[in-house]
Amino acid sequence: MRRPFVLVSAILLAALSSARLSAQAAAPSDAPYRNPATSFDQRVSDLLSRMTLEEKATMLSGSGWMESAPIERLGIPAIKMADGPMGVRSWAGSSAITSANGPAAKVLTTSFPSGVAMAATWDTVLVQREGQAIAQEVKALGRDMILGPTVNINRVPLWGRNFEGYGEDPYLAARLGVAYIKGVQSEGVIPSVKHFAANNEEFERHRIDAHIDERTLHEIYLPAFKAAVEEANVWTVMSCYNKVNGVHCAESSALLTDLLKKQFGFKGFVVSDWGSTYSTAQTVNAGMDLEMPGGARMKEWISFPSTQAAGNGAGWLTADKVLAEVKAGHITEAALDDNVSRILRVIFESGLFDHPHAGGGEVDTPDQRAVALKGATEGIVLLKNAASLLPLDPTKVHSIAVIGPNAAVARTGGGGSSLVRPKYAIAPLDGIKERAGGSMHVSYEMGVGMQGEDAALDTPDARAKMLQAAADAAAKADVAVVVVGRYAKLEGEGFDVKTMDLPAGQDELIEAVEQANPRTIVVLNTGDPVTLTKWLDNTPALLDMWYAGQEGGHALASVLFGDANPSGKLPVSLPKRFEDSPAYGHYPGENLRVDYAEGIYVGYRYYDTKDVEPAFPFGFGLSYTTFVYSNLKMNKIEFAGKDPIWGFNVSVKNSGARAGAEVVQLYVHDGHSKIDRPVHELKGFQRAELQPGETKTVEFTLDRAALSYWSPDKSAWVADPGKFEIQVGASSRDIRLHTPLELKR
Ligand code: BGC
Repeated sequence: MRRPFVLVSAILLAALSSARLSAQAAAPSDAPYRNPATSFDQRVSDLLSRMTLEEKATMLSGSGWMESAPIERLGIPAIKMADGPMGVRSWAGSSAITSANGPAAKVLTTSFPSGVAMAATWDTVLVQREGQAIAQEVKALGRDMILGPTVNINRVPLWGRNFEGYGEDPYLAARLGVAYIKGVQSEGVIPSVKHFAANNEEFERHRIDAHIDERTLHEIYLPAFKAAVEEANVWTVMSCYNKVNGVHCAESSALLTDLLKKQFGFKGFVVSDWGSTYSTAQTVNAGMDLEMPGGARMKEWISFPSTQAAGNGAGWLTADKVLAEVKAGHITEAALDDNVSRILRVIFESGLFDHPHAGGGEVDTPDQRAVALKGATEGIVLLKNAASLLPLDPTKVHSIAVIGPNAAVARTGGGGSSLVRPKYAIAPLDGIKERAGGSMHVSYEMGVGMQGEDAALDTPDARAKMLQAAADAAAKADVAVVVVGRYAKLEGEGFDVKTMDLPAGQDELIEAVEQANPRTIVVLNTGDPVTLTKWLDNTPALLDMWYAGQEGGHALASVLFGDANPSGKLPVSLPKRFEDSPAYGHYPGENLRVDYAEGIYVGYRYYDTKDVEPAFPFGFGLSYTTFVYSNLKMNKIEFAGKDPIWGFNVSVKNSGARAGAEVVQLYVHDGHSKIDRPVHELKGFQRAELQPGETKTVEFTLDRAALSYWSPDKSAWVADPGKFEIQVGASSRDIRLHTPLELKR
């Protein structure tokens, strides 16, 4: 009985291997996939038809720390990646650009402002230019892909990576994420929007299970990813480390296949976060296309006990494991084809196949520096300016005491994979000295050592001496500028911040300086919100410069001296106390489970609806001039099919004496729906640059989606007919005008 079976098998095997052999031999130079004039779909299917099963399986995991697997026989290039998103991280550890080929050659690149600083600009044009500038550096270094943007929402003030993201609001994060991606892709460089879908804390980031209800996921944590797919046609999405509703993201077909690929229509590939895979068949079948990292470096790394203790998983989509699961029937060849097709499609669509990036170009060019400077400047938020202490008047200010642990060192970004090392970085003190020139005396005192940086400064004696020296310097100067905040080792990837309070001794420093000199300007240099209430009442002027990249010191000086008029607005509410923040009590979770029990009430949706007063509200930021809003009107209703699109305009006048920019914000209030809704939600914003006395008309359009909530019953976005209120203002708590909008059906 066994003989015929053996015979048939032998014939089949021979046929298969001869087909394989001929497939292996056949890669003529005029093959359709090599022809740029052929459509992407045809190129993909032609190339796929020429690949062996082994070659396909090889493509599912990286060949190195930052490279996908090339298939040389067919001319399929490796996708060479670079860490981001605030510039190209090409100097440290495993993500140094040449990690695949031996020792890392460290390359210094432009350090752009952190994501939260760019978010504070509310400037989509600038963020798009930033994406483009970063992509140019990626190409100049011979790389193909940048691991960014980060669009995860700031849910908790203590998340170690808040500085990377675009703040607390899904609409703002979506607009900026789309802009960044468009900028990157316009250069033929591959972005990776991350970390899909809800990576909002670093605590046990590999094991924590985020329990989030469907409505909250759709309204808060998914919109930026949805927009990245639907509006920017993003080429890749990076899945996150943590679990969502019980399943690791890399194994979640609900997230990767049903939502991302089917509902949003994502055509590119999903790449795993580095070390976030735990199975072979389940991961492939869930819709994870490319496991990173891979190759020898991955094998070494995953063998370290510390790597495993942290909860990393890797080495599951290697060719041998994938082939074994295909043979066992746990992965279909169709599933494998889908993964490979997606990777191939991006290789064609990005232009990588036809125009490989040879490298050897320049980085940190004047243009790239200009973008970094503009971002750092526009991102600075003026939070308080009592008695118009700012801008400094050079006819009255002859001496400045610059003080603080963040004054003489440029703290360009938070820690982790996003930290760029630039060729130079302008610290606040450098920027102030340069701008002050010879006409002003600029003194410097550290005032307090940065927590954890230098043990010698952390003795009672050293602390007392430094504090006294700072107070003396402040007393002698016309004004004092105190730059406080954190740095990469206190705020970064892989750990959360322990407290919202400023690091040790900084509150005391501010108090001592303010006592010595009432003309004190406090500057925050952090990514996360910090506790301000201990000294805020006595502080005449407060600025938030965030982590501002290599040009931070220049940007700060230009705002202090009034060369630039501050126009940044908070992309995140600054609560008075951690206890006031919506996720308080639901963070970091217990027994490796965190319940997003505050639901959709994240950020101002919570503070404004539940009437909890923050220290400074979302959207807030002062200027050296004033703006008057008038004439909010609905000016048109057009129809896109059955659905109306409403147009609104509002006049904004610069009523002061300086040129400035105002970020005009539009919020939608729904008071009639049966479902519980936040008191209002941001659905539009525009930056208006205005000369003194100038008036501009700012226009907005709204569609049905802007009025909608996610209905879990209908599994759809729903807008209930009735009267909405359109609010226009200067922050979520400074609504200047409103007008009704009626949805008829
Ligand atoms: C981070 C990603 C990063 C990747 C590669 C991970 O630890 O979460 O954001 O892109 O490493 O360095």
